[in-house]
Amino acid sequence: MSQDKECNDRGYYGEFGGSFIPEILVATFDELKRHFREIKDDPAFWQTYSDLMSNYSCRPTPLTFAENLTRHFGGAKIYIKREDLNHTGAHKLNNVMGQGLLVKRMGKTRVIAETGAGQHGVATATMAAKFGFECTIYMGEVDVKRQRPNVFWMEQMGATVVSVTDGTRILKDAINEAFRDWVTNMDNTHYVLGTACGPHPFPEMVSFFQSIIGKEARQQILKLEGKLPTRVFACVGGGSNAMGLFQGFPDKSVECVGVEAAGHGLHTGQHASRLCSPDATVGVAQGYKTYFLQNDDGQMRETHSIAAGLDYIGVSPILSKMHQKGEARFESATDQEVIDAVKLTMRQEGIIPALESAHAFAGAFREAAELSSDDIIIINQSGRGDKDIFTVADAFGDPKWRDFIKEKALDYK
Ligand SMILES: *Cc1c(COP(=O)(O)O)cnc(C)c1O
Repeated sequence: MSQDKECNDRGYYGEFGGSFIPEILVATFDELKRHFREIKDDPAFWQTYSDLMSNYSCRPTPLTFAENLTRHFGGAKIYIKREDLNHTGAHKLNNVMGQGLLVKRMGKTRVIAETGAGQHGVATATMAAKFGFECTIYMGEVDVKRQRPNVFWMEQMGATVVSVTDGTRILKDAINEAFRDWVTNMDNTHYVLGTACGPHPFPEMVSFFQSIIGKEARQQILKLEGKLPTRVFACVGGGSNAMGLFQGFPDKSVECVGVEAAGHGLHTGQHASRLCSPDATVGVAQGYKTYFLQNDDGQMRETHSIAAGLDYIGVSPILSKMHQKGEARFESATDQEVIDAVKLTMRQEGIIPALESAHAFAGAFREAAELSSDDIIIINQSGRGDKDIFTVADAFGDPKWRDFIKEKALDYK
């Protein structure tokens, strides 16, 4: 598989990536690249970073043997990498805390971020509170309405949440607005991009911080089993948790599998699959070149997934390159398969995967039985599912939950 060092100086991975930014931001990006280069090659920085993550975010996260699921499928031994046990409940904090250390080093005092589902906004607000930065989060008006609990926590942690009313009022509009802010305030402000997308050096930088997942998982499986896994599975939204895991397994013998959101089905048009569906084509948007879900005029299409965190039009240029070169395999899972995977994992293991992560579980479950007991698979549980209680309870059609919501609503009358 590809290592991030394969990108050239201009941040291209094969034909993908690059940096399509306004002239005015060039100096800011140069400054960021310079600082990132320095820390990347400095073992003392990695030590500082991993100490911070172990004291603040429960790292190293465990690699849990899923004994009951293994027995249930009767094939490969199934292990789960527990990114759900990070502070704020997902892998997102790995990236955000790493960028926070960079912000301190650059002497900046303010951070901004875009968020769709709100998870990246909460992680960024958390980091800003911890490091004492001013913080503004951009969020589409539609998402502010849908994600009230996350907006509440961001504001309580001291962040200003700006509801973006431009365009279709979702994630891509929030990204545009965050870039507009950055252009105006670049002297004191850093834009904390949330995934392994966007202009160079963000794909490389976010992947670098997330590589802590794969580094740990490799050591852990070698210690537990004395050998490498046959396959590793991760869900793919922007691609950061997948890149995090995959970087731990550059070996030819390990197959890396990314699982995208097939929503209501790839043939319905209502999905968020860029690498597995013919609906996505190569283009340039949001500062980089990759596969985008766009129509013939380059207009971005509406996407759908039961998992808000996978509902994105683009994908990491690093994964696009791996896809094109056959260095990783990409699959997809439908909303229904994902709900079934959540149910099975809860019943068998007492673990609630986030709806995003459950795509990786669904992909792995499809293949576990065809492998033998000599094979090992690792599933990256990118986050915990507690946040999804509204969606999951709806999907399960739990009548007691419906009564509870109705009664709560009446309390406010
Ligand atoms: C945001 C999110 C994702 C998707 O982001 P990637 O950059 O593709 O990793 C996946 N899982 C969880 C739990 C998330 O919060």
